[in-house]
Amino acid sequence: MKVLIIGLDGADPDFIEKNKSRLRNISGIIDKGISGKLRSVIPPLTGPAWTSFMTGVNPGKHGVHHFISTDINSGEEKILNSEMIKDSKKLWDILGENQKKVTVINVPVTYPPYPVNGYMVTGMLTPDESCEFTYPKTLKSELKDYRIFVDWMDYSNLEKFLSDLYDVTDKRVSNALMLMNRPWDFFMLVFSGTDVIQHFLFKEEDHENKGIYDEAILKYFMFIDEKIGELKKKAGADVVLLMSDHGFGKIPKKAVNLNVWLEKKGLLVSKKKTLDMKGVFFEIAMKFRKLRSIAPKSVKRVAKPPVMDIDWPKTKAHFSKAWINVGYIKLSQKDEELRNRIISELETIEDSGKRVIDSIYKKGDIYSGRHLDEIPDIVFLFSDDYTGSLKPVFIEEIPKDRRPAGHRINGFFAISGEKIKRAKTDASIMDIAPTVLDLFGIEKPGYMDGKALDVRG
Ligand SMILES: [Zn+2]
Repeated sequence: MKVLIIGLDGADPDFIEKNKSRLRNISGIIDKGISGKLRSVIPPLTGPAWTSFMTGVNPGKHGVHHFISTDINSGEEKILNSEMIKDSKKLWDILGENQKKVTVINVPVTYPPYPVNGYMVTGMLTPDESCEFTYPKTLKSELKDYRIFVDWMDYSNLEKFLSDLYDVTDKRVSNALMLMNRPWDFFMLVFSGTDVIQHFLFKEEDHENKGIYDEAILKYFMFIDEKIGELKKKAGADVVLLMSDHGFGKIPKKAVNLNVWLEKKGLLVSKKKTLDMKGVFFEIAMKFRKLRSIAPKSVKRVAKPPVMDIDWPKTKAHFSKAWINVGYIKLSQKDEELRNRIISELETIEDSGKRVIDSIYKKGDIYSGRHLDEIPDIVFLFSDDYTGSLKPVFIEEIPKDRRPAGHRINGFFAISGEKIKRAKTDASIMDIAPTVLDLFGIEKPGYMDGKALDVRG
């Protein structure tokens, strides 16, 4: 049994459906196999989503719910890495234990690399190409002109961005094709550019460059589609699986800081509302895209928007932004009555007669596991037009050219192969690992939350 997985970060099921006729290889796999929507985790972020894919468990078990992990004891913030995935084996660990040869290329949250029964080239969240990003170590020198990631935030020039994106994608595939010549049973490669290009170019209907940008996104997907054809042909796998970690397409128009709201309710106390210098720099850098491209990466990474100076000992609850349209409220102490009160009051927040927050969850309702304590008490998704903000203003309009396109909860998947049936079904991202294990005839570990899909014809 040979299984090839190709990941398209951020590929939205509606986008794929709409453009099927121009994505021949992708639609071929969809039409000849089993496919549907692939529900991501909450929050639908690249880090937690790919982690739930590779482990088959929910964030309460693997402990990854954010790009930045905060140590609950020291408060120290760390960028997510593979060592923070807790208590759960990765799909390739289990395959390796069963003597299957694996090759894993560019899957997010695999840095730092770790031993596998085969090869690993780490993906997004790898610091840069100067560090060790392969297993075995010697593989790095065998790769040709390999670059890990194109960070859209580093670019002000669209042409330069696109030419780098195409180049990095092309090299990723040529190196993958080289690695396909070596023995493997399981081969996986993720394309990050599909997410990156949408963050850069996905705009509202009435944006002046909407037509040009949409065409650029589609053209890049067509290029990826060609590459999928090349990989599939060379691989000669029994089963080909396409998947994305979440969808794409929300563009919030207004930014909301719920800390201002919590302060009005007397649940948060702030010392003074000042802008720190890092915040000021960030504001300027955001305003002038050119400046963004010359700002040192370290500054950009650390710089945060101006925030309220919270008086922690006097504060009972505070808001933090997980990503564009996902937010958390963390209570200083466990207090079920207060949590219920905050939830029912969050439901009543309105702006121009519309609800600002769409779905609100107690963490225990959507997650389970040993690492539940590390996740904030209340998790919620903003309504379509809103996003979280840490600027000391409750609700404010975001200038049109600065509206960030964000993720949607549903990604897509498609599995095809000679013995795979033709069907439509929706699934969870946690179902993929058990399904792949099942294809290899390996029983899934009992702790996995996902279930093997019935894919055989
Ligand atoms: Zn993603």
